[in-house]
Amino acid sequence: MFWNLLCEKNNLQMQLSDFEDEESIKSIQTIFKCFEFKNKSIKRGFCKHCGSYKLIGWGGYRRNVRHMYAEIEHVRARRFRCKTCGTTFTVLPNGVTFYKRFGDKDYREMVEQRCSRGSGYRRLSRRGKIKYCSHVTMWRQMQKTGEQTLDAFFDLGELPFSGIIIIDEKWLRMGNGIFHFGCTALDGITGRTILAEVYPTFTEKEAEEFLILLSKLVDIEYLVADDSVIQAVFNKVFPDAIRQYCIFHIKKNIKKAFQVTKLMKLSDEAIQAREEILNIFNAGTSEEAIQRLAILVEKRHTLPWMAQGVVNRLVSKIEGLFQYLDHDIPKTSNQAEHTFSLFQPIIDAGKSFSNGVGNFFRTIMFYKNFHFYSSGPNKDKNTLIAMGINSESMFDFIQLP
Ligand SMILES: [Zn+2]
Repeated sequence: MFWNLLCEKNNLQMQLSDFEDEESIKSIQTIFKCFEFKNKSIKRGFCKHCGSYKLIGWGGYRRNVRHMYAEIEHVRARRFRCKTCGTTFTVLPNGVTFYKRFGDKDYREMVEQRCSRGSGYRRLSRRGKIKYCSHVTMWRQMQKTGEQTLDAFFDLGELPFSGIIIIDEKWLRMGNGIFHFGCTALDGITGRTILAEVYPTFTEKEAEEFLILLSKLVDIEYLVADDSVIQAVFNKVFPDAIRQYCIFHIKKNIKKAFQVTKLMKLSDEAIQAREEILNIFNAGTSEEAIQRLAILVEKRHTLPWMAQGVVNRLVSKIEGLFQYLDHDIPKTSNQAEHTFSLFQPIIDAGKSFSNGVGNFFRTIMFYKNFHFYSSGPNKDKNTLIAMGINSESMFDFIQLP
């Protein structure tokens, strides 16, 4: 009948203050000790088998817990027996998991380290204070996290979305001259990573695959992407969405088209044509921009040959060139590039991927949502906190170990 004496809110403990003199307090404490000894019940514990609270201590054993930065620790695993059904079971200290050699927080730390520091697993595990954890263990945790990230992206898929998606791709060096293709989709306003996948090649087939997956997560009204296979197939999956090319890339290609070797000099006509073309993008409305382009089309036969090529290419893309002048959307995919550049050293350090690059890429792109501190009014807040979601750790959405 005293099985729940050690519960935090049992009546006897509440009444301890009623005992005024030291002697009574001492004696009641002795009684407590006695109950404790007799019952050895765990705080708030109950039998997982039958639900009964009548548990008694049933011995225990010592086990080791390993850490990343400190030497092996010994903790005590306690065994309990249920007085009602007779089942015995073991309780480990908080933060220690059965069959897992490291502490739970250490497993998380391994992934955090890998996501935030730019060096390979082997170097990382040798460097700094990480003394007691091998690079293989760290790699394995990164893989485990990556395996859960797709589901985690779907969990976050419930969050508000601006309707504007920025998609960008990045070649991932696999070693031995092999590259894979990392494709990332960000919310154009909040910068949240919506989805990140890796493909061995990136043709229309893979791009469509990526977009179909994306269509299950968010409803897209606007796309901002550079001139890639994504632009080519986007309206197949999102027929009503408006496409905008990355103006930064368009302008860069225009400037490139007018480049000549150091020995030659660009003609005055060519310089004038180049400026005229670049000026189109400073128009106030898309109507004005299209008019400026139309004037160039009209007189294209009088333009230098480089300008003719540029004008023809612009006309072929006209649908996605000037949407930013009429709609409140970003005109570049710089946000995605910025993300890639932040993680560049980490991605480079991953070149020893023989496999698992998908898990690796997904993990760092997901991690970004929790550790990418923005500037401006949301300075020092991660993307999710800036969105009003109180989460500082990717492990709110991923189970590790
Ligand atoms: Zn039981």
